[in-house]
Amino acid sequence: MDINLARAWVHTIAGAVAEQKDRLTWLDSAIGDADHGTNMHRGFTAASAALDGLVPDTVGAVLIGTGTMLLSFVGGASGPLFGGAFRAVGQTIYTPAATTQELAEALAAGLAEVTQIGAAVPGDKTVVDAWTPALAAFRHRADAGADLAEAALAAADAAEEGMRATAPLQARRGRASYLGTRSIGQLDPGAASTALIFRALADAVT
Ligand code: ADP
Ligand code: MG
Ligand code: MG
Repeated sequence: MDINLARAWVHTIAGAVAEQKDRLTWLDSAIGDADHGTNMHRGFTAASAALDGLVPDTVGAVLIGTGTMLLSFVGGASGPLFGGAFRAVGQTIYTPAATTQELAEALAAGLAEVTQIGAAVPGDKTVVDAWTPALAAFRHRADAGADLAEAALAAADAAEEGMRATAPLQARRGRASYLGTRSIGQLDPGAASTALIFRALADAVT
């Protein structure tokens, strides 16, 4: 991943979030407070716009800048989670380009930050349920010598599968956990956004 691809990734996420805003909010209306799409859209619109004024010299600068904007503009539970995650991903890449294996480590740092902030484990029906399988798939391909396109595609597929697997789970973190067993049967909105972020990476690469 080079600086241009990092930029393209963020712009692609922003476009996908804009397109999927109502779906994300609809998912959150079932087990939350019906603001997830609005939150993500506000954040990625701001992050995407901020990039236009930035002359980054590393991949990290792009992603740290994005995370900082998400921290300021997303709000809710997901703001610190995605903001912190993008900052953590960026903080591991102080070069103009990262190899696919370096990006795998950066994505691992992002997940570690989400876990550090939110204390969710796989199965809690959160962002973690999409990010964990996405990272595993990405890493597996990277370790096998695959290029970024192949790793990102595998990660996107795995993230979507992880998202779908949140439906039968009972939420144990965040607002949805207040519903107890009534959170069962619905997709987790944050996992849906995570799937969209990984799909955007695959789309930006290819
Ligand atoms: P809020 O719940 O404050 O309205 P959002 O609706 O924007 O915030 O985001 C909700 C999403 O945040 C959930 O669907 C879930 O994926 C994610 N989330 C909430 N709490 C946690 C947590 N502790 N760890 C990981 N993800 C979480
Ligand atoms: Mg919400
Ligand atoms: Mg809210």
